[in-house]
Amino acid sequence: MTKHTYVIVGGVAGGMSAAARLRRLDERADVIVLEQGPVVSFANCGLPYYVGGEIAGQADLLVQTPESLKASLNLDVRVHHRATGLDAAAKTVHVASPDGDYDLAYDHLVLSPGATAARPPIPGLDHPAVRTLRTVDDAVAVRDAITSGATRAVVLGAGFIGLEAAEGLRLQGLDVTLVEASPHVLPPLERELAWLAAAELRALGIDVREGVAATRVDDADGRAVVDLSTGDSVTADMVVLSVGAAPATRGFTGVACDERGSILVDEHGHTNLAGVWAVGDATVSTDAVTQARRPVQLAGPANRAGRLVADAIAAARKARPIPRPFGTAIVRLGSLTAAMTGANRAALDAAGLAYTTLHLHPLDHAGYFPGAEQIHLIVHIDPSTGRLLGAQAVGQAGVDKRIDVLATAMRAGLTAPDLIDLDLCYSPPYGSAKDPITMAGLLADNVVTGQTSLWHPEDLAWARQEAFVLDVRSATEFATGHLPEAVNIPHTHLRGRLDEVVAQAAGRPIAVMCQSGVRSYIAHRVLVDAGLDSRTLSGGMLTLRAWLGADAARIITPAETR
Ligand SMILES: Cc1cc2nc3c(=O)[nH]c(=O)nc-3n(C[C@H](O)[C@H](O)[C@H](O)COP(=O)(O)OP(=O)(O)OC[C@H]3O[C@@H](n4cnc5c(N)ncnc54)[C@H](O)[C@@H]3O)c2cc1C
Repeated sequence: MTKHTYVIVGGVAGGMSAAARLRRLDERADVIVLEQGPVVSFANCGLPYYVGGEIAGQADLLVQTPESLKASLNLDVRVHHRATGLDAAAKTVHVASPDGDYDLAYDHLVLSPGATAARPPIPGLDHPAVRTLRTVDDAVAVRDAITSGATRAVVLGAGFIGLEAAEGLRLQGLDVTLVEASPHVLPPLERELAWLAAAELRALGIDVREGVAATRVDDADGRAVVDLSTGDSVTADMVVLSVGAAPATRGFTGVACDERGSILVDEHGHTNLAGVWAVGDATVSTDAVTQARRPVQLAGPANRAGRLVADAIAAARKARPIPRPFGTAIVRLGSLTAAMTGANRAALDAAGLAYTTLHLHPLDHAGYFPGAEQIHLIVHIDPSTGRLLGAQAVGQAGVDKRIDVLATAMRAGLTAPDLIDLDLCYSPPYGSAKDPITMAGLLADNVVTGQTSLWHPEDLAWARQEAFVLDVRSATEFATGHLPEAVNIPHTHLRGRLDEVVAQAAGRPIAVMCQSGVRSYIAHRVLVDAGLDSRTLSGGMLTLRAWLGADAARIITPAETR
């Protein structure tokens, strides 16, 4: 039998998954892992929690060592060995190591070099107080700075890593300013959920600046002075740069990449070069919903692709293709969790896909059992077919489970109404007989079949100018804040006051609303049965307030009293 040499570049998520699987499929092969850093198999996802002190020791971040990998999988792991070049014709990689440079021959080469922190062209970013959070050394440097007395930090970028870094630094007692150039924190999150996320960050004591860019970093006696597009500046002991990640693909000559430098691969992770494969953050994926080509920089997809590429290489059996990712992701924000799967509005708009959005505010478990918390759930569906396009949720409990169920349903090709058919576990501490997922299915079914017509916060101008706004909450709730044009008829009184509605609507469509969308749906059915043109506000006042954000105080009258 031929003895193969497999060379892997990058010894963490995708690379080490590929190496371990290759060994399990081919006991005789030489499996060599090149890692430029000092450690392999480290928990990059754990770095922010090490910064925050929840993961106490540096050793806890090291899942494996070269020695343990040698002993258990007979891998030849070479740390401080950097792949600097590729000769695809000769099938060799050029390697720079502490003992000098050498060329290493391969039969198959797996590239999993990951990504490095993006560095936007902001003058002064080379200030020594500016740090990134990608490696164990980065995290140790941040923790050392805290131990050495840092009291103030600026985090540039409020994506997943920026949010985790900001929370970690805050947990360590630092004053933290979080700067995000996009209109809101966690840009992939829809604005009505991001508003809740930002409120939670502020409640943690983090100074959140949204729609604000850093324009320059200057020095003041060793501290960094970060100038902002607002004209303010913030002086800090430390600046954590987390504004995105760029693929670490320089030097791999001949490997076809997109305009960002991300490696193009086929469904088995094969590049354009014979025997050269690539996985993980450095590659481009095809989005499972929109078919857009984009990098999906997440640990699950990288680990999975590493294993599947090994299957394709070793050809022990017909390899499963690498699935198109939904980008399912989750982050903790204080007492909240935010999670998402599939496409958001921006991605759906860019792809030109028709969609409608369902907003639900169910409880994570039975309301009569202590401790029930509201989940703010968004589901984007195709209004004519019910296809699930994307989902997001924010809440204190049960968010991960619901988004994972929706991600599973999407992978299985279920439509939103099919969610009704899922048999989900239930007892009062865990859920409800009608789980939030079931509720999403029921609402979707109503929308797809025309039982329910929705209006959305995006339609506010239409509602206020062209429709009759009917608020069916109680008078007490109405008094806490309502649209200026709204007329209040509680849903329990509606059947007896239909003549009033007809008179006041005067032929206009009726934009019904309540607190969360449940009572307005009941009212909507009463109105439709009476032959009236009615639509119900998706997610009710809860969604409208979050959508309006700071503008709610201006538009909703009287000003918020909560
Ligand atoms: C702080 C942080 C938190 C994260 N949290 C989460 C999370 O909670 N959930 C989630 O899903 N994802 C998370 N991620 C993303 C996840 O870690 C990545 O998607 C995943 O690690 C990508 O795997 P990869 O193999 O492509 O790259 P990596 O795991 O980054 O490994 C790449 C390795 O290649 C090495 N390398 C690069 N170039 C060369 C070269 N030329 N020669 C030799 N070695 C080289 C690098 O030093 C690096 O060690 C987080 C990432 C970070 C940085």
